Amino acid sequence: MEFLHTLQHYPVLFVSVAFLLGLIVGSFLNVVILRLPPLLEYEWKKDYADFIGSDFKESKPPSIALERSHCPKCKTKLKWFHNIPLLGFLMLRGKCAFCGQGISLRYPMVELLTGLLTAFMAFQFGVTVEFVAGIILLWFLMTITWIDIDTFLIPDQLSLSLLWAGLFFSLFSFSITPAVAIIGALTGYLILWTVFQLFKLLTGKEGMGYGDFKLLAAGGAWLGYEQLIVVLLVSSLAGLLIAVIQKLMGKVENKIPFGPYLSIGILVCYVFGDEIFARLFALP
Ligand SMILES: [Zn+2]
Repeated sequence: MEFLHTLQHYPVLFVSVAFLLGLIVGSFLNVVILRLPPLLEYEWKKDYADFIGSDFKESKPPSIALERSHCPKCKTKLKWFHNIPLLGFLMLRGKCAFCGQGISLRYPMVELLTGLLTAFMAFQFGVTVEFVAGIILLWFLMTITWIDIDTFLIPDQLSLSLLWAGLFFSLFSFSITPAVAIIGALTGYLILWTVFQLFKLLTGKEGMGYGDFKLLAAGGAWLGYEQLIVVLLVSSLAGLLIAVIQKLMGKVENKIPFGPYLSIGILVCYVFGDEIFARLFALP
């Protein structure tokens, strides 16, 4: 506990340690974002083959923790130092050391973003349970966001685990009680489910997916039912803002994942929710 004590007295050190931790975790999240969807697809196909009693011969995609990263083009395994967050990318100057294939800018971007936001949580909350809960929330939402952008899916493994984590942290009562968290989870699911059914009834189209309902259920478990209105407000504003930016840049997207905006809304509310709520509803 000596170490925690030191961190408590040196906020700059604490924020720096959090930044480094965020970089390292961000580089792990890149692996999860890349490898979880094909693993899930493999499991679904296997289950289906078992169910209809046919042979299943596909080979298993790389697991998340065990196999070292390799270049997608020449398949050469990367050296350990290429895996250092940010520095690896800079050393390679964005290209595979063996075949020169360009590496997506997204990898260092996810690392840097995770690092900066983890540091921000440290700055905001200090050495507290709220900080620990906050970075867990952040890391889950970061993974969900990019997987949703890539595949238009939010894996249950992530959204439901996040929901359980929210219920667990409500036991510490630093912002909401377990009762408020449980009602929040139910409300979160039902709000989007209702919107989805109404939209379908009126237009015959499906505007969202069940993954989004589960994500807002998780949001309700973390923030309580009152904050959900703020989450939806912030998500809509973020969605509008990004749509305008994309339009200005000349990009037109027909199908837009909703998960990233919900994630932004949930994260903003975790840090600033009470202030925003008080301002909106003019509470003292
Ligand atoms: Zn290569």
